[in-house]
Parts: sequence; C-alpha cells; structure tokens
Amino acid sequence: MFEVVIGLEVHVQLNTKTKLFCSCATSFNHTQNTNTCPTCLALPGALPVLNKEVLQKAVMLGTALGATVNRTSYFDRKSYFYPDSPTAYQITQFYTPVIQNGALEITLSNGEKKTINVAFAHIEADAGKNIHDGDISKVDLNRAGTPLVEIVTGPDMRSAEEAILYLKKLHSIIRYLDIGDANMQEGSFRVDVNVSIRPKGEEKLYTRVEVKNINSFKFIEKAIEVEVRRQSEAWEDGVYDEEICQETRLFDQVKIETRSMRGKEAAADYRYFPEPDLLKAVISDEMFDKYSVIPELPDAKRERFIKDFGLNQYNADVITSDIEMAKFFEEMMLEGISAKNATTWLTVELQARLKGEVNLTNTPVNAKKLGTLVKRIEDKTISGKAAKDVLDYLMENESGVDEAIDTLGLKQVTDMGAIEAMCDEIIAANPEKVEQLKGGKDKLFGFFVGQVMKASQGSANPQAVNEILKAKLG
Ligand code: ADP
Ligand code: MG
Ligand code: ZN
Repeated sequence: MFEVVIGLEVHVQLNTKTKLFCSCATSFNHTQNTNTCPTCLALPGALPVLNKEVLQKAVMLGTALGATVNRTSYFDRKSYFYPDSPTAYQITQFYTPVIQNGALEITLSNGEKKTINVAFAHIEADAGKNIHDGDISKVDLNRAGTPLVEIVTGPDMRSAEEAILYLKKLHSIIRYLDIGDANMQEGSFRVDVNVSIRPKGEEKLYTRVEVKNINSFKFIEKAIEVEVRRQSEAWEDGVYDEEICQETRLFDQVKIETRSMRGKEAAADYRYFPEPDLLKAVISDEMFDKYSVIPELPDAKRERFIKDFGLNQYNADVITSDIEMAKFFEEMMLEGISAKNATTWLTVELQARLKGEVNLTNTPVNAKKLGTLVKRIEDKTISGKAAKDVLDYLMENESGVDEAIDTLGLKQVTDMGAIEAMCDEIIAANPEKVEQLKGGKDKLFGFFVGQVMKASQGSANPQAVNEILKAKLG
C-alpha cells in the first residue's frame, strides 16, 4: 500500500596525509588541537590552498562510479555557525561539484540487478569535534579541515535492503580504491538516510525526513524500518501532515527510535556563494590519465575468482566484498591449495580467531602461514582436527607452521607399519573384547579404533586405523 523512497548521503573521509586546505596532519587522534594552523583555525588573513591529493582521489572515485569527472570544479561557502567550525562556514562544492551522474549496480537477493544513480559527489571540509564533558563542552579542532567527499544518490532505493546493498557496495569500493579507511565506528564513513513514503503507484515525492548519526549497517536498517513505520502509522491515523515534516532526526540506538533533532534547513538558509579565497579546482590531463586507471573493483574480482578458482557465487561474494580478505585469499592460493579449503580456513577458522584489535591486516597467522597449514592437511601431514590446534598455537606463538606441528607432536602417523604395530598391541591387550566382537558385538569396533587413536595420541591417520583394524578383526 505504501512505497518506501530512500536517498542516501554518505560522507567519506579521504585518507590524505594532510588536510584539505592546509598542511596539517589528518590524524586527529593526537592530543587535542595540536594538528592545527592559522588556516584551519580560521585566523584572519590565513588563506586556504587546495591539496592536490584530494583531486586525485576524486578522479579515482568518479571513475569507479562511471561518473562525469568535471575537469574544472569550484568551491562554495555554506554558511552556518557551529562551535567546532571556526570559520562559521563550510567550504564545499555546491554549484559545480567534481563528480556528477555516476551509478552503482546492486544485486538484490532475488538475483535482480538494479542501478542506483549517484547524482553527484563533492569535496568539502570536515568540522572539528565538540566533546561534551558534564557541564562543560570542549572543542577539538584536529579534525577541522580534513577532506571529505559527500556522495549523494537520487531517491532511488525502495527498501532497507536496497539501501544496505548500495552502502555495502560503496563501502567496499572506497576500500578497494584505498581512498579512505571507511571505518563506520570512527566516523570515516557517515551515512545520512533520507526516507519518505508514498501511496503505491504515485510518482510524486512526499516529505522526506533525514536520519543522522547511525554508525553501523545493522542500525541503518533498523532506522529505516522504524522511520517507515512512524510515517505509515501517521498516514493511517490521519495525522501525516501534522506529524511528518522535513526535518533532521537522530537515531537512538538504545530505544531503537528516531527523534527530532532540528528543522531541516533549506538551501537558501545556507547563503551559498562562490568561495572567494580559492581558485577553481582544475584536473590536468596528466592527473586524469594517471588516476583514472583504477584497481580491479569488487564485481570484477568476484567474477575472476569464480572463473579462476572455481568458487561458488556465495563464497566469492563473501571473500571479495572486503579487499583485505580478497588479498589474503589470493595469497593463500599461491600455496597451491584447494579453493574450498582456503575459503573454509579463512572465513570460518581464522575469522573466528580474530578478536578486538586483531584483524586480517595484522594477524599473526598471515596468508602464507594459513596457506601452508591448509597444505599440511591436504598432504596428510596433519588431520583437520589437529590443524585447529596448530592454528590456535600459531595465534599465540611466533612459530612456523611445520615447527608448530613438531612442537605440538601432531604429525599424523601415516606409516602403515607403525599403525599396524599399535593395532596389534591393542588387540593383544584386549582378548575378551576381541572374542565379543567376533561373537557379533559390532559396537566394539569403535572401541578398538578409539584405543589405537588414543595410543597414538591422536596422531594416527584415522582412515588407516580403520582399514587395518577391519582387516585384522574381520
Ligand atoms: P539537501 O541538499 O537538502 O540535503 P537534496 O535534494 O540534495 O537535499 O537531497 C538529499 C538526499 O535526499 C538525496 O539523496 C535525495 O535523493 C534524497 N531525497 C530527496 N527527496 C527525497 C524524498 N522525497 N524521499 C526520499 N529521499 C529523498
Ligand atoms: Mg544534504
Ligand atoms: Zn591547518
């Protein structure tokens, strides 16, 4: 009965070494207000100078989005006062943004493909941070002036699912291009969700609400759900016009609800005008040619992994959605192991052991080690079960794989003579059980297998034990 309409604005922090308009470092986790200078503190007379690296990254992003990259773009002032913005305006791109008319394709769960239009993406300066501490608020300007690119879609998404698919794709592309770390918790990938509803069949856009302050995909999905419910209920209760207005709402992660934060300003309130302190931003032929050659993107990598390694669609998707995982996987494959085993040991076993600060980029068990471990299962040096113990050990101890196998004494005994000797010993030690087994008590076979495995301290190849015992006990 209602159709959901969603448009997304994503602020991505670019990982340049220095800020957008000055040479201060962009690492804002330093002591407060130390990465600042007259320009980002907005002292009178200090002038901004554009950081070229930002344009280079914009070329990469525009190319990835199949967009028009405007070779000449301009900066504008958006006026508003906020304590963490010492200029009392934000330098952004309003009239001619650097990127226009791009798109991203998403694949819905039913297999259908859908194109989400990226209307434009522009460069702008971030604000500092207000830190509220009891009765007082403090201002930290380390972040003031760091470069952002704001990526804005058309009102093209029709469900939370579509919105999340688009966001995950965009997130993955930012990481593939390595133009930002896109860490949602730390605010380097910030999503504003614009939501409205309309009766099915209507083309007109109804009043939209902007929901801010959501820092995980899970919560974005929730925020859309509760906002759609609020608007639909208002409609059904006949109070839509009174209750739904164009405003900015905050998502409360504890109560799972959206709350009014402020009325949404219209463009006119911002008194946009061309930034007088900056020259136009020009992308030279040389810069364009160099940065429009971009690395393989997730879709292409997924198709290649399916073709080259025989991965199924699902696993290929999981592995290539994250650039670090894709790199890790590809490096594991250099050990000449099966793609199926590589997938399991990477996405199940290793993933389960990564905790807290430990991730794929700094895990003590790197791709080569994990690949070698899988190889030792495949060449029957160790059993799959023993490999889990080896992996546990390697996570905690600095050691090579083979060294760890030795240290733990987990080498699988495949020497048939040795296994046979152990079987003989167990059989000789349990004459009564042998009689019972031969008399028809089949269940006892398991007892013998267990005893031999125990005698070998788990190192005997279980298949070999079974075969030998079968031959001896009938
Ligand atoms: P502003 O500049 O005020 O934020 P925009 O017109 O740039 O507004 O739109 C911001 C975002 O809101 C865009 O992603 C756009 O697609 C989306 N949007 C606009 N109208 C609607 C609507 N009625 N319902 C849902 N999303 C909308
Ligand atoms: Mg906006
Ligand atoms: Zn500065």
